[in-house]
Amino acid sequence: MRGSIEPSALDSLPAIDTNTGLLRRARYVPSPNYDERPAGSVVDLIVVHGISLPPGEYGGPWIDRLFTNTLPPDEHPYFAQIATLRVSSHLLIRRDGECVQYVPFHKRAWHAGQSSYRGRERCNDFSIGIELEGTDTEPYEPAQYRVLAEVIAELCEAYPRLSAERLVGHSDIAPGRKTDPGIAFDWPRLMALLRFHEVR
Ligand SMILES: [Zn+2]
Repeated sequence: MRGSIEPSALDSLPAIDTNTGLLRRARYVPSPNYDERPAGSVVDLIVVHGISLPPGEYGGPWIDRLFTNTLPPDEHPYFAQIATLRVSSHLLIRRDGECVQYVPFHKRAWHAGQSSYRGRERCNDFSIGIELEGTDTEPYEPAQYRVLAEVIAELCEAYPRLSAERLVGHSDIAPGRKTDPGIAFDWPRLMALLRFHEVR
């Protein structure tokens, strides 16, 4: 019972439980779209994405539905194109800063697709995928930057090979194929917040 725990005891829990691979603050919506990371792989990259369903509309249930293979193809013309995809990410940060987790961090989520980082292919093997609810061209919300920076700081604490330098956009690892999180994503703003959190 959460209510029976003293606040000080709750505060002392780590933000991420590395046994379960779950972020405590997140709403957990388990996705079937994951598998094991290859033996010996170490999580050392964070990939930032942008997504909205339908494109440019916010707040609906459709991202959860896509990542749980329950997107109704008849609900919107765009859904018919993507309803059979088998994809996921570890986390989604919604416009209001709410965190939703779909895959435990130590498992391999299916977010990057064909990709390459500094000569290493298949970035899903060694990365954590974080979706921001948004589009390439509309400014992301202040709450999203704030929560993203906090979560990255927490991830760096839990997975020591991560750092502020091991941070890319989907477009960086799949150029020509992917454009997210787009020109709207303010990297200097995120980097300033990470410096505030003393993420190196
Ligand atoms: Zn993406």
